[in-house]
Amino acid sequence: MKASLSKKLSLGFFLAVIVSIILASFISNYTVNKEFNKYLVDEHKSKINNVIKIAEDIYNNQGSFSKANEAELQRYAIMQDLYIEIKDLNSNTIYSSGNSHLYHKAMMGHMMNNVSENNTGEYIENKYPLAINNKNIGSITIGYFGSSYLSTASVTFINTLNRSFLFSAFIALIFGLVISIVISREISNPLVKITEASNKMRSGNLDVRALVNSNTKEIDELSNSINYLAETLKNQEMLRKRLTSDIAHELRTPLTTLKTHVEAFMDGIWKPTPERFEDFYEEIDRLSKMVDNLRNLSKLEESNLNLNKSTFNISSELEKIIDTFIPLYIKENYQLISDISPEIDTSMDKDKFKQIMHNLLTNSYKYLKPNGKVEVILKKEKQDVMIKVIDNGIGIPEKDLPYVFERFYRSDLSRNKNTGGSGIGLTITKTFVEAHGGKIYVESVLNKGSTFTIEFPNVISS
Ligand code: ADP
Repeated sequence: MKASLSKKLSLGFFLAVIVSIILASFISNYTVNKEFNKYLVDEHKSKINNVIKIAEDIYNNQGSFSKANEAELQRYAIMQDLYIEIKDLNSNTIYSSGNSHLYHKAMMGHMMNNVSENNTGEYIENKYPLAINNKNIGSITIGYFGSSYLSTASVTFINTLNRSFLFSAFIALIFGLVISIVISREISNPLVKITEASNKMRSGNLDVRALVNSNTKEIDELSNSINYLAETLKNQEMLRKRLTSDIAHELRTPLTTLKTHVEAFMDGIWKPTPERFEDFYEEIDRLSKMVDNLRNLSKLEESNLNLNKSTFNISSELEKIIDTFIPLYIKENYQLISDISPEIDTSMDKDKFKQIMHNLLTNSYKYLKPNGKVEVILKKEKQDVMIKVIDNGIGIPEKDLPYVFERFYRSDLSRNKNTGGSGIGLTITKTFVEAHGGKIYVESVLNKGSTFTIEFPNVISS
C-alpha cells in the first residue's frame, strides 16, 4: 500500500530531527566530558605538585620534619582526600598520614551514589622523588581513590549537564514532531486540493478551480497550471460546441433552400427556369466551397507547412497588393490608404505573404461601415518588420477577441452582417505568420474599428 505524502513527509522530518538530536547530544556530551575530565586531571596534578612542594618547603626550612609540620601535612591530606607518606633516602618512613579518612570517604561516596560510573574509586598510589636544590632528600608517596578528585560539586555539575542534555533533547523532539507535522500538512494539503480539483475536471466539471493558498512557489505554479488547463479545456469545449453548431448552421441554409426549391418543382408550383437553376448552382457552389475550406484547413493543420522562401522587397510587394484592392474600395466609397517604409528586404514565402495580406484586407473591407477607411502601415522595428492594418469598421466584441483566430469562429456581428465568411481566414493567416516565426494580434473597439498587427522577424537589409 502506498503511504500518503503527508505521512511520508512527517516521518522523514521526524527521523531527521531524531538523528540530529542524537548526534548533537553525543557530540556535545563527548566534548564536554572530555574537556571536563581534562580539567579535573589538571587540577589533580596541581594538587599533587602542591603536596610535593609543601613537603620540600618544610624540609628546606627545618632541615627535617617536626611534629608541627606533620600536623600541617595531616590537615592537607584530610582536606584533599590524599594519603601522604614520606620516606628518607634509606627508605625509612618519616611521615605517614594514614588512610582511614580515605576509606571512610570512599565508602560514603559509594553509598550516596554520587560518584560517576567512570570513576570506580579504585585506590591509586604514586611515588615521587623529593629534592632540594637538585639534591635528593627522599621520596613522597601520594595515594588517593580514583574518585577523590571528583568533588561533589563536579559530580553534580556533570549530572546536571547530562540531565539538561536529556531535557533539551526531549523538548527538541516534541518541537520537531510538531513542526514536521505542520510543514508536511502545509505541503500536502494544497496537493490534496489540487488532486480533488483535477479529479472533478476529469469527470467533466470544467468550472472547478484549485483554490490553493500556498506560500510554496512550486505548488502555486502547479495550481495555476491546473487552473489554466481547466480554463483552456473549457474554452476548447465551448469552441467545439460552437463549431458543430456553426457548421450545422452553414450547411443547413443552402440545403433548406435547395430542398424547398426542389419540392416546389416536384409539386409543380415552380417551373424549372435557367435563373432558378442558377440559384441552385450558387447554393451548391457555396456548399462545395465550405467543404473545400474544411479540407484545406485540416490539411494545413496536419502537415508541417513547407515554406518556399525567397528574398524580396516587402515594401513594393505590399504596395502591389494594396493596389489590387483599391478598385474594390472605391466602388463602395471606402478609403484605402497606406504608409509604407520603402526598400525593406525580407526573406519569406511570397505567396503566403500575399495570402496573409489578402485575408486581412478582405476582412477589413468586409467589416467596414459607410465612409469606411482602412490604413496599412509597414515599417521596420529593430530587426522586425511590422505591418498594421487599421480599420474603422464594426469592431469586434471584447468577448470574441480571444477567439477570432480559432477555426470557424465568427462573431455574431459578422454573422448578422451576412458577409458570407466561413471563419477560417484568420486561422490560416495566423498559421502562415507563425510558420515564418512571426506574431499576429488584434486590438479592437466595438463600433470604432480594429487593428491587426503582424511582426515578422529578421529583416535582411534596408
Ligand atoms: P470570416 O470568413 O468570418 O471573415 P475570419 O477568420 O477571417 O473569418 O474572421 C473571423 C471573425 O473575426 C470574423 O467572422 C469576424 O467576426 C471577426 N473579424 C475579423 N476581421 C475583422 C475586422 N477587420 N473587423 C471586425 N471583425 C473582424
